[in-house]
This record gives sequence, structure tokens and C-alpha cells, in this order.
Amino acid sequence: MEYDVLVVGAGAAGLMTAIVAGGRGRRVLVVDHANRAGKKILMSGGGRCNFTNTATTPANFLSANPHFCKSALARYTPWDFIAMVDRHRIAWHEKSPGQLFCDESSKQIVRMLLDECAAAGVRVETNCPVTRLRASAGGFSGETPLGHVRAASLVVATGGLSIPSLGASGFGYDLARQFGHAVLPLRAGLVPLTLSGKHQERFEGLSGVALPVEARANGAAFRDAMLITHRGVSGPAILQVSSYWEPGTDLRVDLLPGADAGETLRSARAERPAAELKTILSGLLPRRLAERLCEVWIPNRPMRQYRDAELNDIGAQLADWPIVASGTEGYRTAEVTLGGVDTDEVSSSTMMSRRQPGLYFVGEVLDVTGHLGGYNFQWAWASGNAAGLAV
Ligand SMILES: Cc1cc2nc3c(=O)[nH]c(=O)nc-3n(C[C@H](O)[C@H](O)[C@H](O)COP(=O)(O)OP(=O)(O)OC[C@H]3O[C@@H](n4cnc5c(N)ncnc54)[C@H](O)[C@@H]3O)c2cc1C
Repeated sequence: MEYDVLVVGAGAAGLMTAIVAGGRGRRVLVVDHANRAGKKILMSGGGRCNFTNTATTPANFLSANPHFCKSALARYTPWDFIAMVDRHRIAWHEKSPGQLFCDESSKQIVRMLLDECAAAGVRVETNCPVTRLRASAGGFSGETPLGHVRAASLVVATGGLSIPSLGASGFGYDLARQFGHAVLPLRAGLVPLTLSGKHQERFEGLSGVALPVEARANGAAFRDAMLITHRGVSGPAILQVSSYWEPGTDLRVDLLPGADAGETLRSARAERPAAELKTILSGLLPRRLAERLCEVWIPNRPMRQYRDAELNDIGAQLADWPIVASGTEGYRTAEVTLGGVDTDEVSSSTMMSRRQPGLYFVGEVLDVTGHLGGYNFQWAWASGNAAGLAV
């Protein structure tokens, strides 16, 4: 079988590449080893797919080369994708500022992408692993259950390692290495953090407690909700900061973000001098957490017994609370994989390899990882569009 373009991976980036390339008249075959296309899209956004973020900027992405994503993002904006969603009459809403979700179901996004593929004459084959991929005269060749395939361009759209049960594999990284590309160290991102030993014991029984915090690690800060879990901490603020945290680095949370905690405690003392600190803190934080803080860390006395300096100290502690995480929950629950194919050897305008003409990398397999909130799909659409225009 002869094609112009062979796309490996029928996920977000692979399908977008195929739609754009097919629309340009290229003969495109998309193969995926999973039993259906777009499995991560189906799971995403709690089944409603947070398909883009209208506030997308290059600053929302982690990469060893922060400039790499700029060109593709500028040429395919959230509004380009929204236009496609609108053309297919898929109703959507803005959940939190910038984050767009389907009103009904992520299935509509997969349906839309497959309909666009069909309209562009793209062939999409699932349950279709490809082996023995190699460069051959004028392109690439490989073996599939459909038979021997040859194509002038090969697009690697195999995504990251997160959630192996959804079809994730290291195939794209292996392929990159096969063609001489460096793969930067991989680790789970947008992932809950685990606590162990005494650090876990101190939070025991608090599972389910959620509160707004500002979580900080390695120079990044995210203000959003934190959730205490059976195994550690999660919630959007922790997921976001997990992409910046590494074992051994400092992780701090401000438990009263936006407030001067010392000042708040001093006014509470003036108003309710006989009340105990834990009662006052229970008005500012979830009660179970406030009680635990006073059992384990902060001495609990009637407010009138604290001097200004002590209340300021307690306020400073609450604003810079250390969380001693032992690790992450790993790829089993991570939304993304940090690291990946080194962008130094890939063209930022076409996504083509600088080592092997005709070889392209799109989406999460590249060392470009978005924050939580629709940015990862926007990268998949934008990088897919860039490659689709070039293949
Ligand atoms: C639970 C969950 C929820 C998420 N929610 C959101 C969200 O709401 N918004 C957002 O922006 N991002 C979200 N993400 C991240 C987002 O899904 C990914 O960043 C995005 O799908 C990456 O697109 P991709 O095309 O590069 O990879 P994928 O969409 O993962 O597609 C890769 C495809 O390659 C196939 N493949 C892998 N190995 C092989 C192989 N050896 N042979 C053939 N095919 C192969 C896979 O089966 C898969 O279909 C979520 C991720 C998870 C895990």
C-alpha cells in the first residue's frame, strides 16, 4: 500500500495532522494499536473534554526550549479550533476563565475529528499496530495487519506514557531514538503527589478535605484548590505544581492565599479574645484541617494569650506551609508526560526532524507539556496543524 503520509497514533495530534494533510490532497493513512481512536480525548475533562484554553500563550508550556512552541501556537489559535467545533454544532461552555468544555460529551470531539478525516479522504485504522518501521527509498515503510505500507512522510503522534490502559506506549520515543533523536528525561506531570511515613500520618483521616491554596515549587506558583487524598495531595493547584516539582525539591502551600494571615489573626484576637486559636482557624480553613494543625503543629491557646509576634509567626507558617512529598502517583494517573523528543532537532515551523527528512513529531511525544486547563489539547491541535501543512 502506498500513501503520501503515514501517521502513527490516532489521538488528538495525529488526527489533526491527518485532517490538515488530507485537506491538502495528501493520501493519508492513520494507524493506531488501540481499539478506538482518541481514547484520551474520550476520557478527558471528566468526559466533557476541556478542548482548548482561550488564554493560551507560550508561557503555559514547559519545555527545555520555551521558544519552540511559539510558531505553531501562533498559526493555529484556540479560535481556529473553536471555529471547527462551531461548524460541527457542538455546544460548549467556559467552565473557569479560558477553559472550554463540551456541554454534552467528549465523544462529540472524537466524532468531529473522524468526520473531518472522512471528509478529507483520510483512512483511519484502529487495532492496527505497525512494526519494522524504517527509512526506505523515498520515504518510510512498515508492516501492519493490513500489509506492507510505504509512505513519503512518517508522522509520529504516539503521545506520552500516561495511562497505559488507554493505549499509551513508549513507541514514539523508541522510534525517535532509532532515527538518532535525543529524548529528554521523561516523568509524570499533572499528577497527584504522595506522602509517606510521618508526613502521611499527620494528614491521616483528612482525606476529602479541600481548600483554596497557592502551591509553589521551583519558581512556579498556582492558586487553585488542593485536595487531601488517602495517599497524599491532589486537586488542580497540586496537579499544576507537580509538573515543576521533583523529588527533593521544596513544595510550599499558602493555606490562606490572598490574605495577610498575621493581620487576620490579630483582628480575630481583638474581636474574640477568649476563643481558642483552633476555633478561629476553623473559620478560615476546613475545620478538620484547622483542628489537626493545632493538634500537631501549632500550640492551641485562647487568642488573648498570643503576642503579636506569635500571631505573625503563625500567619507566616500558614502562608508558607511545607508539604514533604515522597513522590508522585506516576503514569497510572498522570495527565501528561514531561520531557520527550528534544525540540532542538525538530523544526518549530513544520515539526519535521532535522535528522531525517520526511519524519515528523507532533503532540505530547515532543518535549512540550502544557499546564492544566486545555493547553495540552491546544498544543496537539497546533502542532498537528503545523505538520499537516508541511507533509
Ligand atoms: C485522563 C486524562 C485527561 C486529560 N484531560 C485533558 C483535558 O481536558 N484537556 C487537555 O488539554 N488535555 C487533557 N489531557 C492531556 C491530553 O489528553 C494529551 O496531552 C493529548 O491527548 C496529547 O495528544 P497526542 O495526540 O499527542 O497523544 P494521544 O492523544 O495520547 O494519542 C496518542 C495515540 O497514539 C496511540 N499509540 C501509542 N502507541 C502506539 C503504537 N505503538 N502504535 C500505534 N499507536 C500507538 C495511542 O493509542 C493514542 O491513540 C488529559 C490526559 C489524561 C490522561
